[in-house]
Amino acid sequence: VDVEIDRIILDALDRARTGAAAKNIFINVTGERGLVTYGSESQLATALGNLIDNAINYSPVDTTVTIETGNGGAELTVSVTDEGIGIAEADLDRIFERFYRADPARSRATGGTGLGLAIVKHIAGNHGGRVYVSSTPGTGSTFTLLLPSRTVRSADPAPTEGEM
Ligand code: ATP
Ligand code: MG
Repeated sequence: VDVEIDRIILDALDRARTGAAAKNIFINVTGERGLVTYGSESQLATALGNLIDNAINYSPVDTTVTIETGNGGAELTVSVTDEGIGIAEADLDRIFERFYRADPARSRATGGTGLGLAIVKHIAGNHGGRVYVSSTPGTGSTFTLLLPSRTVRSADPAPTEGEM
């Protein structure tokens, strides 16, 4: 089924609200509205939610997380940028593996399991897309979900009484 990107962002924001508030992290949403992909709304919200969770978990208090949408024609992007600890180059190709956690995360008192990004990669792949990262240690990271773009709703046949 068609999945509205605005809807999955709202879903994911809803789930992230408490964690963000606890660290006084502001979540900023920007970019193009009305983008549509195809697949499972709940899976895509989980994928985006995992990226937002990480952005919050691996950032200090009083920072900003930015969710940005973009339209590349046949593909759309949803990126999550944080002002957090960043990821060393040596870890960049490994963080999408199950159970892999980079050193600063491993030593964190409140640890995760290292599955979040493996799930994101799996969900992106299932939707004909992918996920990639760019990061600068000490400055922050950007994770981008790239997904196939559907033509906008206005192109759908929408019979109404008035037009029949
Ligand atoms: P889980 O998500 O299962 O609770 P996790 O967050 O450790 O645990 P992943 O989400 O798969 O697992 O992330 C893997 C590792 O990648 C993290 O442990 C952390 O080292 C690194 N990482 C992920 N996102 C970020 C980020 N936004 N900034 C810095 N490091 C990150
Ligand atoms: Mg995680």
